[in-house]
Amino acid sequence: MFDLSSKVAFVTGGSRGIGRAIVEALAEQGAHVVFTYATQVAEAEAVCAGVRERGGVAEAMQLDVRDVAMSEARVTETAKRLGRLDVLVANAGIARDGLWVQMKDEALDETLAVNVRGSLGCARAALRPMMKARKGRIIFVSSVVGEMGNAGQTAYAASKAALLGATKSLAREYAKRNVTVNAVTPGFVDTDMTRELPQPVKDAMLGAVPLGRTATAREIATPVVFLASDEASYVTGAVLRVNGGMLT
Ligand code: NAP
Repeated sequence: MFDLSSKVAFVTGGSRGIGRAIVEALAEQGAHVVFTYATQVAEAEAVCAGVRERGGVAEAMQLDVRDVAMSEARVTETAKRLGRLDVLVANAGIARDGLWVQMKDEALDETLAVNVRGSLGCARAALRPMMKARKGRIIFVSSVVGEMGNAGQTAYAASKAALLGATKSLAREYAKRNVTVNAVTPGFVDTDMTRELPQPVKDAMLGAVPLGRTATAREIATPVVFLASDEASYVTGAVLRVNGGMLT
């Protein structure tokens, strides 16, 4: 599809779901992929083994992106060790749902720490080698919920909308260095995150999807590979909707 051989990609939250599919898709196109997981060691090892079996290269490292200093260190070390960093996909994310009047500050803080501060910390560290190389691709995994809102997801929506503001600002700030910054906004994707939702919530969400089904993680990964590729060289500050028609 797109040739990513000789490129190094760093993906946060690659052990499961959308992140895992992104790791696999980037590796299939020839990228050397370094990805992080928070707690699921066995899942992360399985991803590495699967990629290896198909002739690709993927390495896993433990990282809680709430630790911004450690996140920056992991990205910086990876770029130094492998001599380059071409692509960052800031994917790790959590959802803490509930009615806003009942939501505890801790839940909001945790959501922002993982989804916003974690993603932006990795981006700051990735920008340094990318600026030096005068080339780079940063892709934030936001959400359709960050664009349209969703009752019961105020904290999550706020965090995902923040990533869209950051995408557009960073795209303007680093365009002169030839670093592109884009976001994808997935709709309803079949992963652990959505499997936990109560059935009536799932039914209501599906009813709002013109394509009438959830996305596979792979269907989100493919547009990410495009944004990571040389072919996407004139795409920056974009929000790529991958939502089955839920929001147009
Ligand atoms: P998921 O299946 O729950 O996987 C989450 C991933 O993030 C895992 O790899 C997890 O690592 C990692 N992670 C969680 N907390 C972390 C932390 N504190 N530090 C570092 N890594 C952490 O989620 P998903 O559905 O694939 O979602 C991936 C991204 O897509 C998220 O940003 C989510 O908001 C976004 N998204 C999802 C949907 C959807 O319908 N699923 C829709 C729109 C956007 P462990 O495996 O070690 O726990």
